[in-house]
Amino acid sequence: MIKNFKKQIAEALIDQKEIFGDELFTESLTGIISHIEKIKRKTEVVEVEIVKKKKLMEDEDTFFDDEKEAWKKASTLTELESLIKNCTKCPLHQGRTNLVFGSGNPKAEVMCIGEGPGAEEDKQGKPFVGRAGQLLTDILKAINFSRDEVYIANVLKSRPPGNRTPLPQEMEMCLPYLLKQIDLIRPKLILCLGLTAAQGLLKKKESMGNLRGKLFEFNFTKVMVTYHPAALLRNPNLKKDCWEDVKKFRKLYDEMK
Ligand code: URA
Repeated sequence: MIKNFKKQIAEALIDQKEIFGDELFTESLTGIISHIEKIKRKTEVVEVEIVKKKKLMEDEDTFFDDEKEAWKKASTLTELESLIKNCTKCPLHQGRTNLVFGSGNPKAEVMCIGEGPGAEEDKQGKPFVGRAGQLLTDILKAINFSRDEVYIANVLKSRPPGNRTPLPQEMEMCLPYLLKQIDLIRPKLILCLGLTAAQGLLKKKESMGNLRGKLFEFNFTKVMVTYHPAALLRNPNLKKDCWEDVKKFRKLYDEMK
């Protein structure tokens, strides 16, 4: 509260400084002011359109009390994976070779979230190992992240037939697994790859044009949205926009340190 008040005073003084000149400023305010200016600069990195605070689970109050589903109480990713790897909650389990749980650093500060496994991912049981995955690796490399330092997961853990877009019911069934992964990893930043990931996590039905370049917040984790690498493979003209997005993402990450 007091911090907020100080911030407001300092902001007002910065405005005054612009109007009246420097004389109003004393040495003691310099620290606060440089702090506020830093915050102002930070928010310019990405336009903070919405700060959306969402409960981690839709029914958080009952979520961890439900003894029937042991995976809800998992305390590590390995435990969670072994508890859900034979999931049969939705019909997609019938066609899968492997459940694709996720891969990377269990303590990652950055998480990338895609849509769901394709053919190669289904075969290997790992996310983003096909052509789109190679492109994702290159995109990450271009902004100085290695695949090993981030964590990569999908909204769906089982492959939809013919790589079709996930159905709402499939997303609803599978999403709690992703939310539990986020809860265990507690990343600082999430990059949603494509609209399915954005819709799943942020419950946003807007177009990519409206979502990209903005900053969202999901349960204290900052979230940005960009094109899915598969979309870039289909339409290379989108690469330029994606590059802008991921540069912002990296800048934001660097400024959060
Ligand atoms: N596309 C995705 O969304 N996820 C994968 O794991 C692979 C391709």
